[in-house]
Amino acid sequence: MTSDFRSSVQSFLAANDPGKPPKDPLERQAWQRDWASLLVDEGFAAPSWPNRWGGMDLSLSDQVIYHEEFAKVRRPSHPGPGIFVVGPTIIAHGTDDQRGRFLRPGLRGDIVWVQGFSEPEAGSDLPSLRTRAELVGDEYVVSGQKTWTTNARHADWLFSLVRTGSRESRQHGISYLLIDLQSAGVTVRPLRDMTGGASFCEIFLDNVRVPTANLVGAENDGWRIARTSMGHERSTAGVAQGMRYRRIVDELYDLARECGRNTDPGVRQRLAAVEIDVRLIALNNMRTLASVLDGDEPGPVASIGRLMLAEFEKRLHELAVDISGPAALLDPADAHSVQRGRWVRGFLATRASTIGAGTAEIQRNTIAEQVLGLPRDETTTGAK
Ligand SMILES: Cc1cc2nc3c(=O)[nH]c(=O)nc-3n(C[C@H](O)[C@H](O)[C@H](O)COP(=O)(O)OP(=O)(O)OC[C@H]3O[C@@H](n4cnc5c(N)ncnc54)[C@H](O)[C@@H]3O)c2cc1C
Repeated sequence: MTSDFRSSVQSFLAANDPGKPPKDPLERQAWQRDWASLLVDEGFAAPSWPNRWGGMDLSLSDQVIYHEEFAKVRRPSHPGPGIFVVGPTIIAHGTDDQRGRFLRPGLRGDIVWVQGFSEPEAGSDLPSLRTRAELVGDEYVVSGQKTWTTNARHADWLFSLVRTGSRESRQHGISYLLIDLQSAGVTVRPLRDMTGGASFCEIFLDNVRVPTANLVGAENDGWRIARTSMGHERSTAGVAQGMRYRRIVDELYDLARECGRNTDPGVRQRLAAVEIDVRLIALNNMRTLASVLDGDEPGPVASIGRLMLAEFEKRLHELAVDISGPAALLDPADAHSVQRGRWVRGFLATRASTIGAGTAEIQRNTIAEQVLGLPRDETTTGAK
């Protein structure tokens, strides 16, 4: 069965190659969307999700095969990867109406989801968030500001945390709300980052009306529900990314050979460390998939995988830039640039890896307190 499954994934990938990504961002998104839809239509989307909601319901061994085979080839990434965070949350805590409206369209990329948790004064200390939602009839009226929202410029819907309790209620007065970004009163502004791109945005919500049908779970129970999202953000949503690094590490070996650095003992030592890391990440991914398949929430243990991946991708790109030497600094368009600036772009982008989805310090606190059972840091009350 398992080897049949491997050949069926290989045949699918061999028969379907959408080619190189278009340069224009909107054309690129359409290209990604076509690929995401094809995966759903052909039964190759969401290996761990139930069939009923567009997934494949695979066993652990077949999920591993799926990720291994997809990681070997270059195929479009999902246009709205937020679905792999909000989707499992809606499956666990949402209504059937929400599952019907949002899961399959999200998987197909027809709805691009982004995460609206962080605010200017609420990052690690997320329970201090202030975006307010007042119940008026059968709608919430939402006002406030979200920030660092990845990909919001090209998004359709926001899964967000809002304050429905008193100002001081902290995590006991938070609700989990799904907001249509086309609603009146929503303004999305891009934030330029050091790669030169603007993958983040800030979102202003000014008396935005949101039907109560878009509340996930009960009012004021959003903190518990957000834990499901954060667990999946740190674990299952990162599995494919972790597996993809198998190919990228092989490409790093090619880079070392091309640059004539593969015989340098210092470089070889660092390459060996990267190889060990990528294998550990794959093993840890299997542990994550196994526990989710047993019906468990990813839980605090998800912080281990997230921390490993975040620190690994920084180290890998630092090594790549060192191997490239001074030519790494050339403009990507320069004839002598190293692989059109790919590794430097990665180097700049991964500086943020140990901040996104909870900072490395917060992941370490979570591992220390909630996995290892060490004494609690009294300065925090429910960090992200
Ligand atoms: C690449 C990337 C993508 C992101 N995408 C999104 C997104 O799509 N949606 C979204 O809502 N947010 C997103 N974020 C925001 C992210 O969740 C926050 O940046 C993160 O939670 C940290 O919050 P902050 O920036 O306010 O920093 P702060 O919380 O102010 O932290 C500042 C520093 O203090 C440290 N610190 C804070 N508290 C403690 C503590 N208790 N113990 C030890 N050290 C502590 C932190 O580790 C950090 O070094 C993204 C961020 C990045 C970098």
